[in-house]
Amino acid sequence: MLQQPLSRRMLPLAYALVVMLATILGLTWFALQTQVTLAGFLNSESVWSKAQKQAVIALDAYAVTGSPADLAGFWQNYSVLDSDRLARDEIASGSFDQEVVDRAFVHGNVMPTAKPGMIFVLEHFSGAPYLRDALAAWRSSDAEIAQLASIAKELEHTHAAGASSAEQAAIQRGRIHALNDSIEPKANRFSLEIARGTTWMGHMLFIGVLSAACIAVLLWLDMARRTLVSIRGSEERYRLLFDSAADAIVMVDEASGRILDVNRTASAWTGRSADELVGDRFVHLFTQSMAGQQTGRAAANVLLGAKGQTRPVETQTSLVNWGSQPVRQAIIRDISERVAMERERRIAAEALASIAEGVIIADAGRLVISTNAAHAELTGFTSQALQGRRLDDTRRLPGGQPLPRSIWDSVAAGHNWMGEVVSLRSDGSSYPEHLSLSTIRDADDQVVYYVAVLTDIHEAKANQHRLEQMARHDPLTGLVNRAEFERHCAEAIAVAERERLAAVVLFIDLDAFKIVNDSYSHAIGDRLLVKVAERIRRQLSEGDVAGRIGGDEFTVLIPRLILREDARAIVSRLLASLSEPLLVDDYEIVLSASIGVAGYPLDGDNALALIANADAAMYAAKTEERNAFRFYTPMMHADTRRRLQLAAELRQALARNEFHLVFQPSVELRSGRIVAVEALLRWQHPERGEVLPAEFIPVAESLGLIRRIDEWVMQTTCAQIQAWDLAGVPPIRVAVNISARWFGHPAFVDGVSRNLQSRRLAPGRLLLEITESAMLRLGDDIERTMQTLHTLGIAVAIDDFGTGYSSMAYLKLPAVTCLKIDRSFVTGLPGDGNDAAITVAMLAMAKSLGLITIAEGIETEAQHEFLLRSGCIEGQGYLYSYPLRPEEVQRLLCPSQPSVPMRLKLVPPKRS
Ligand code: C2E
Ligand code: MG
Ligand code: MG
Repeated sequence: MLQQPLSRRMLPLAYALVVMLATILGLTWFALQTQVTLAGFLNSESVWSKAQKQAVIALDAYAVTGSPADLAGFWQNYSVLDSDRLARDEIASGSFDQEVVDRAFVHGNVMPTAKPGMIFVLEHFSGAPYLRDALAAWRSSDAEIAQLASIAKELEHTHAAGASSAEQAAIQRGRIHALNDSIEPKANRFSLEIARGTTWMGHMLFIGVLSAACIAVLLWLDMARRTLVSIRGSEERYRLLFDSAADAIVMVDEASGRILDVNRTASAWTGRSADELVGDRFVHLFTQSMAGQQTGRAAANVLLGAKGQTRPVETQTSLVNWGSQPVRQAIIRDISERVAMERERRIAAEALASIAEGVIIADAGRLVISTNAAHAELTGFTSQALQGRRLDDTRRLPGGQPLPRSIWDSVAAGHNWMGEVVSLRSDGSSYPEHLSLSTIRDADDQVVYYVAVLTDIHEAKANQHRLEQMARHDPLTGLVNRAEFERHCAEAIAVAERERLAAVVLFIDLDAFKIVNDSYSHAIGDRLLVKVAERIRRQLSEGDVAGRIGGDEFTVLIPRLILREDARAIVSRLLASLSEPLLVDDYEIVLSASIGVAGYPLDGDNALALIANADAAMYAAKTEERNAFRFYTPMMHADTRRRLQLAAELRQALARNEFHLVFQPSVELRSGRIVAVEALLRWQHPERGEVLPAEFIPVAESLGLIRRIDEWVMQTTCAQIQAWDLAGVPPIRVAVNISARWFGHPAFVDGVSRNLQSRRLAPGRLLLEITESAMLRLGDDIERTMQTLHTLGIAVAIDDFGTGYSSMAYLKLPAVTCLKIDRSFVTGLPGDGNDAAITVAMLAMAKSLGLITIAEGIETEAQHEFLLRSGCIEGQGYLYSYPLRPEEVQRLLCPSQPSVPMRLKLVPPKRS
């Protein structure tokens, strides 16, 4: 991988080396040339010196001999000297003829190779040290050499004339020797300066070449150092880069598939050191095959860690050459985050698709990008159908206006917006929708997407409406409830006050509804109430309000009357309408109602007072005369207050021990013998004196106190029986009245038998008096309860028979042994044919079932007679005895014991 850049980086160094070698060679060549030139100078000088000496010797010989050979020898040597001088002066002139110089050099026997250098030096460096002195010495000999030539000519002339003499020859030789002596030191200096110059030049050349070579080598070395440093630096940088890369990089030999190099990230991810990885096969790093992966294309794979852990990666390979070796460079990128994000995105998308709420994703311009399945289901619009449309295109505010800008401004400002809108479906219909808008933002906090989550609140709204309706209305009849009625009253009073009018409240209570409810069934009772509500509503005018504020208690508000008494007409109509027979299922039920009337401003100035006073008036109507109405008078209020107070005091009566029992004897009609007593409860009120059950038992029932009272009666009765037994009173049956509440309680049977056991009394001593309506309330459990009582040996009497359902089914229940004919039938006897017929029928029926019949409320002899004749077995009534205190009972049954003055005289029946 480094090869190519390295070779490129080393190239300048190579060039520099070549340049350096060339420089050194050039310098060497230059030195050689200089040496050649110097050699030329030396050689020329030696040739010149030799020619000078030979010329003198030849001339001297010629002076003596006059031989032409000597003369020729002189002239030959002289021509050498003259050529040298010519060449020297020609070159020194600055503009010389090359040919002349060349000829002179040839003539002067100058080395041909040194010729150019010598010319160059003489031309340009004639003033250089040594050369300058050498040339000066040479030039100074020119005149003497010229004189030698003139002596030669003289001698030639003399010899030619034959006039030479020994003296003349001696004179001429003297001149020759003198000239030679003058030339010789000059020639020596010339030779010496040339030799010195050559030596100096040789030194200079050596130093110059050596220095240049040294500098070149040093420069090259420096350059090489710098290059290497920079190469090493870049390699380190490369390594650093390679190792610090965030991706794993692996170099793989293309031919063998084996790893050549890895970076640090690759080591870290694989958990193996570079040494361990190098040489291993590249494919071993992954769990998946690399087959089919294309060069340059990213491919997903999974990288294996040393401990078997895996890492999702993306690999991308490219082919490079390391010199001539093809190498595959693989870049492995960790895509864990991307994979995780993709998985999250997929989960989010799936979640989005599967959530029940409709979701719309819109871009920053609010154009729909996608919607989920729930949205399509809700609106009928597919994601494609909405694409490119604004998400608020199909939505309006409940008032019909388009969604205002302020919503989007608020959402864009970072607030979530939630609210109700009306959304259009694809079929053109619309539905109320709860819309929640929020945004998805980028790193710069710019809105990228809008997210709308929506739910169809059609049903929720309907439920809310229903709830509101329920909160304000009676679920059974649909009339307004107490709170809503009070609100209407308050409004009507405010209007009446403003407009100086009257507003009237009617309180309607059904007479004997309880009996209907208990005798038939609650379901029928409910249906009856619905019908009653309908009848009431039918009598009302617009603006009147009807409400149901209790079981069988209805109210009516009549606003805007001139006088309270103006309500009379509607009250009469109501009474008449309610007394019409009602058909419920297959039963025809005749009811009547009592109505109380209270009006603003006469009877109260607020809703609560008007309702309470109308109630009091109703109560008065009911007690005085049923199927009637009363206008409120302040007197009535006292009665109401009394009832309320009674309730408060009743709560404390048990604790204060204000109850006691009286016992009314039951006599055998035929013999007049007392065969049983019935325990009857009395409340000895500290201020009001004795309060009768008819007054306080309904209140105790409504307060939920009756069960505790019944239990007290049962305990007291059992204690009384035990006391009588101890006192030696002959054992008789004792009847106890049981309220529906207690009878229906799961712990009832247990409670009774526990009481009997605690006093060690035989179950046969007790008779439980239970009314038909109490039995009715028990529903399907009645059979089981009665069976249990029967198994325990406890007998049951059906009390007040004939006032309720009068069902044969009850008479046949196990444990039922007695039937008590209600006083309402006895009172009319014997004159009332209807009562007489019913009584006779009841007696016959009881007889056929083997039940003991007991007639209640016998007050007259005639009644006694009739009942006896009709087959009634026992009788109870003031004719025989009022209810008595226990000690009076004891005295009555044990006449032998000392008698105490009796409060009431026992009336013995007249025997026929
Ligand atoms: P009941 O069980 O039908 O009791 C008979 C009622 O008729 C008694 O009234 C009794 O005093 C009255 N009575 C008896 N003979 C005559 C008569 O010749 N003429 C008239 N006019 N009345 C007569 P009382 O004691 O006021 O009880 C009324 C009702 O209160 C009872 O009717 C019974 O249903 C209930 N009650 C009485 N004591 C208890 C009790 O201890 N527990 C429960 N749960 N209810 C009781
Ligand atoms: Mg009774
Ligand atoms: Mg009774």
